[in-house]
Amino acid sequence: MEVFKLKKSGFTQFQRELLPKTTIKERLKHFNEFQGNWTDKQSSEQGSRCMDCSVPFCHNACPLGNLIPSWNNLVYSGEWEKALNILHSTNNFPEFTGRICPAPCEASCVLNINDDPVAIEHIEKSIADRGWENGWITPIKPTTKTGKNVAIIGSGPAGLAAAQLINRAGHNTTVFERSTKPGGLLRFGIPDFKLEKNIVDQRIYQMEDEGVLFKNGINVGYDISGSELLQEFDAICLTGGSTVPRDLDVPGRDLDGIHFAMEFLVQQNKLNSGEEISSSQINAKGKKVIILGGGDTGSDCLGTSLRQEASETTQFEIMPRPPDQRTTSNPWPEWPLIMRSSSSHEEGGSREYGIMTTQFLGVDGKLEALECVKVKWINNSGSSKMEVVPNSEFIIKSDLVLLAMGFLHPEGSGILDQLGVETDPRGNVITNQNKMTNIEGVFAGGDMVRGQSLVVWAIAEGRNAAKGVNAYLKTL
Ligand SMILES: Cc1cc2nc3c(=O)[nH]c(=O)nc-3n(C[C@H](O)[C@H](O)[C@H](O)COP(=O)(O)OP(=O)(O)OC[C@H]3O[C@@H](n4cnc5c(N)ncnc54)[C@H](O)[C@@H]3O)c2cc1C
Repeated sequence: MEVFKLKKSGFTQFQRELLPKTTIKERLKHFNEFQGNWTDKQSSEQGSRCMDCSVPFCHNACPLGNLIPSWNNLVYSGEWEKALNILHSTNNFPEFTGRICPAPCEASCVLNINDDPVAIEHIEKSIADRGWENGWITPIKPTTKTGKNVAIIGSGPAGLAAAQLINRAGHNTTVFERSTKPGGLLRFGIPDFKLEKNIVDQRIYQMEDEGVLFKNGINVGYDISGSELLQEFDAICLTGGSTVPRDLDVPGRDLDGIHFAMEFLVQQNKLNSGEEISSSQINAKGKKVIILGGGDTGSDCLGTSLRQEASETTQFEIMPRPPDQRTTSNPWPEWPLIMRSSSSHEEGGSREYGIMTTQFLGVDGKLEALECVKVKWINNSGSSKMEVVPNSEFIIKSDLVLLAMGFLHPEGSGILDQLGVETDPRGNVITNQNKMTNIEGVFAGGDMVRGQSLVVWAIAEGRNAAKGVNAYLKTL
């Protein structure tokens, strides 16, 4: 690879800047993205802040091993198309990660030891968006075809990354998706204000032009069986995600007005793209909304509730409030376990930590309130134990509760059972280092293997599964 001469002093001259955002008042009026662009000068300045450290810890922190200093420098020198090519060499979908990655690379940026890190994620987004705008991202069709057939089950980021690389290796690639459209959580989980769906569509169109066949509305394991798949395809790649949500089994759970986060988010995402929804809409308008769970999903429920004009929004988290700064037991370059605020937290609502719900209360089958207690976490020789704070019971009114407490594991019944795929004690699929399961020719990747994780990890898993599939098919 070409070696570039870096301007090493940018970080002494320019402060970290992020992409501009529209005002909160404006962005709450719609569900679309609200980030603007940098000028060329700003992009160049931000790129120049990269120090090109001898040991770029950002590479190591990125599950994709993105070659970050190389493209930072190319953005600094205005060579955007070259930057895009380098970015694509490790990441199939930089326009997704440039928008929604929590950016472990920035946490481990060497500048982050005593200064603000390089704005890596927004540089990545700028490169990818410029690539699409300038028509530099075109279909890459395989030059030869092998005649081998591969089925990918599930079209989230893991399945899409795997499908793109397997198809480019010349194999006939079919992606089966049970939803109406491909994209997995990119399309139906993550709200439009974080990732607009035309951004997902443009990749799907590119992949279709490359020759990938998408079969939507097919629930594999029900509409087509495991044995049929094994007969029809030379290899199978399972990328069905981790879809079983954690429930809260307390009295009153069956009251009307308590929903899993995904029921709520999927509906709004469908309505945004003009799709019909099968049941009546769960709408936060004018309601006192309580979101149980303080993670990404909870924050997406918050942003969506605010846009639906909830009268009040509160997020309860059972864990304690994280510290504002790293503690000594969590040093750089580790992922910082600190208090984080998403763009939705900037927009409104309140957050409470160390709260456990013990009961839902209602009248005539309808939710009216939650009964809760405060809890504290006692550190006991390395492990953490929860204790209820005496006399801390309280009741809070609510007419809509959204359960955003994470996902347990993939669905075991259906295709996993039919193929006899082995899972670990948590219910996640077990694979070897080539991403092959215990069944020959059946591979897996993404949340289905790692458990609930991140888009960047799903893309990395999909790429590794594709390597495994391509190597395996050579042996047939
Ligand atoms: C609300 C929410 C917000 C999130 N926000 C972020 C974020 O901001 N940043 C980030 O990095 N990560 C985020 N995540 C996590 C991220 O979305 C996931 O880690 C990632 O999408 C996992 O990718 P995947 O391809 O493994 O699975 P998924 O994206 O879950 O895709 C799996 C696909 O398989 C399909 N499928 C399953 N079974 C079958 C079957 N039998 N037949 C056919 N199709 C099937 C499903 O319909 C689905 O489309 C978020 C997750 C949620 C729930």
